[in-house]
Amino acid sequence: MEQKEFKAESKRLLEMMINSIYTHKEIFLRELISNASDALDKLYFKSMEENLGLTRADMQIKIETDSDARTLTISDNGIGMTKDELENNLGTIAQSGSFEFKRDNEKAEDVDVIGQFGVGFYSAFMVAKKVTVISKAYGSENAYMWQSEGSDGYTISEAEKDTNGTVITLEIKDNSDEESYDDYLKTYRIRELVKRYSDYIRYPIIMDVEHEKVKEGTGVDGKDAEYEKETVTETLNSRVPIWKKSKSELKDEDYNQFYKDKFYDYSDPLLHIHTKTEGTATYSALLYIPEKVPYDYYSKNFEKGLQLYSSGVMIMEKCADLLPDYFSFVKGLVDSEDLSLNISREMLQHDRQLKIIAKSVEKAIKNELKKCLKNDREKYEKFFEQFGVQLKYGIYEAYGTNKDELQDLLLFKTSNGGTTTLAEYYSRMKGVKTEEENSENNAENAENNENNETAENEQKYIYFASGSSITRIESLPQTERVKDKGYEILYLTDNVDEFCLQMMHEYKGKEFKSVSADDLGLESEEEKEEIKKEQEDNKPLFDYMTEKLGGKVKAVRLSQRLKNHPVCITSEGMLSVEMEKVLSAMPNAENAKAEKVLEINPNHAIFAKLKELYNTDKEKAGEYAALLYDQALLIEGMAIENPVEFSNKICEIMAR
Ligand code: ADP
Repeated sequence: MEQKEFKAESKRLLEMMINSIYTHKEIFLRELISNASDALDKLYFKSMEENLGLTRADMQIKIETDSDARTLTISDNGIGMTKDELENNLGTIAQSGSFEFKRDNEKAEDVDVIGQFGVGFYSAFMVAKKVTVISKAYGSENAYMWQSEGSDGYTISEAEKDTNGTVITLEIKDNSDEESYDDYLKTYRIRELVKRYSDYIRYPIIMDVEHEKVKEGTGVDGKDAEYEKETVTETLNSRVPIWKKSKSELKDEDYNQFYKDKFYDYSDPLLHIHTKTEGTATYSALLYIPEKVPYDYYSKNFEKGLQLYSSGVMIMEKCADLLPDYFSFVKGLVDSEDLSLNISREMLQHDRQLKIIAKSVEKAIKNELKKCLKNDREKYEKFFEQFGVQLKYGIYEAYGTNKDELQDLLLFKTSNGGTTTLAEYYSRMKGVKTEEENSENNAENAENNENNETAENEQKYIYFASGSSITRIESLPQTERVKDKGYEILYLTDNVDEFCLQMMHEYKGKEFKSVSADDLGLESEEEKEEIKKEQEDNKPLFDYMTEKLGGKVKAVRLSQRLKNHPVCITSEGMLSVEMEKVLSAMPNAENAKAEKVLEINPNHAIFAKLKELYNTDKEKAGEYAALLYDQALLIEGMAIENPVEFSNKICEIMAR
């Protein structure tokens, strides 16, 4: 029998494949099963075209193992191969993009190309020292045997086979230090691999499995049970993927059970999204939002991504490109016929189809969340409590570019109690017309030719206050006047909140304004004038206090936001006091400092006292400035520089 050599490129690729250390040798089974399934499909279509009268029900893939002979056999009753086809199909490896990639990047050792690209049939050599293929093409009289021990070449000879189809027998390698090849001869491992990679192949993948059963007549009436072996033919794959079923066939429990089995969660998911899309991208997706943040979510080990299937065959466990970072908590899978089974990770990244699918998946998640927000507020609040921070980071990290996409999914706590969306806040803003009212108004105006209503009493800003808890924020002196004016305040309790709002800048044209910001837009022109005058009259006092505070504050000023409280700290510039707190709590914190201003309530007795002291006991006025500053820091929840000195001073005053 003539030994034929593989074509040059095939030979090189084969060597490369067999001799490198692959992380996923196990994918060989997926490849062989997919080939068998293709062969069955081909026969089925031939039968349809030529009216051969074959049905899918007769088609199957069988797996057998023989531990003594160390063989694993995969057979199908599909279309089979003629002698020429054996030669052409198994004698050459199609030139693939990934092959070129690997060839051009010979040093890219760490690139895991295998398992990603079209090794197909040849992957058998990763686990087998010898591969025998016996095949009989449908309608042909003769069967042939193709045999190879790896890169040296192959032989083709005549063989005996009664029925059409292909039988591939792998002589499994001996165990090595790195790999237990024996596992591929064990039922549990085969079952596991079929479940993982080939569960949704449409033909049954059958295997004879040995079970122990209690021998009849034993084990009753307290008699010792005796066991005997029994062989049962089992179908290893579940065949129809749940996501291919129609929604009307499925109940919530079905979706939830699938989620728990597949993604190893004990709890039901918070919600599921099942979509089928046709058009520019044809795919089905089954997506889940977990009930709780996964335990490893914030660890380095967490990898985002969806499982990727190509026509029911899993091609990637975690395809990160399918999810934007701010939806990294979503679990699930995408199945598309548009993707080839043999596609490398590198190629996938540039795949146009995948990008279209990713966009569409993102939109589906967003729509579902919007729907949930509208129809089931309680559930949405639960969701937001767990994952809302991600959405805010999504806006912050992309410098606000995701704002339009995400702003209406945000929830904030509010001075009104409970939570609010920005749209809800906007609709409650004083003197601000909703879009409908606006258009009505415009129509009226056009008729009556009247001027638009005065913008005077319109609320200018969306106010917010930050702090570590609601109780803390509620007691902030800075919120006094804003509340007094009847304006709603967003309560920001997450570290990222203020950074996120800063990136967003405004909502429907209304700027976000911290209650600590310098101009709150609350006072009338007269009030402003009054304060300005008082400020100027006492300039020497304020300059003196600023000087005594030695660079800790940029200025001391009269406050327009305090009603009952004596003092507070506010900030100027981009960085607020709250942001300073967040930044300085980070590892390797840069010394980020807010430009602080100490504000004094002009109507508080302490102001009168300061004025008096400035003229009678200047030094004491300076001492008080330091005490007031520390008090303001404490109210803000910040550390004071010297707590001992602070409390000693207070005691000293108390003892006077
Ligand atoms: P691919 O499946 O990507 O085309 P493979 O190397 O896996 O590449 O297989 C090469 C070819 O061999 C297949 O395209 C098919 O024509 C043929 N082939 C492989 N396995 C079978 C089989 N079980 N029955 C019939 N033909 C097969």
